[in-house]
Amino acid sequence: MSADANCIFCKIVAGTIPCFKLYEDADTIAFMDINPGNDGHALAIPKAHHADFFAMPPALLGAVSRTAQRVAVAVQKALNPDGINLVQANGKGAEQSVFHFHLHVLPRRIGDELKMNWGHKPGDMARVKANFEKIKAAI
Ligand code: 5GP
Ligand code: ZN
Repeated sequence: MSADANCIFCKIVAGTIPCFKLYEDADTIAFMDINPGNDGHALAIPKAHHADFFAMPPALLGAVSRTAQRVAVAVQKALNPDGINLVQANGKGAEQSVFHFHLHVLPRRIGDELKMNWGHKPGDMARVKANFEKIKAAI
């Protein structure tokens, strides 16, 4: 499987840096975002390193979408948001900051006024962990 030694998500896949892991199968993993735009913000990624949407093998897009759907269903059950955006950035102009393909599962609340680029403020890890435990129990 392709990996990039300098890629933070490849390190998460390899287990060399920790994450709140929600789900894993042969081709994908899902985990909590550490700079959440909202409570319950999670990411679904392929295990193999592909920089963006353009580089993704189509069959792997299907696998990541299945994982994102599984996470979204669990987020809905666990946190009951008013909506969920699936967000995916390609290139600097789209504010992509990690060049390993990922789908954001981004819970929304009516009136949260979350912008497309929500800024990367470090999350409160106790709060991220509490949301992780609720979603993990629902997955
Ligand atoms: P992008 O800006 O590329 O659309 O999204 C990258 C996401 O990865 C950001 O929301 C950011 O918070 C998240 N992220 C960056 N580094 C880490 C990390 O080390 N662990 C986790 N769990 N998320 C990360
Ligand atoms: Zn990578």
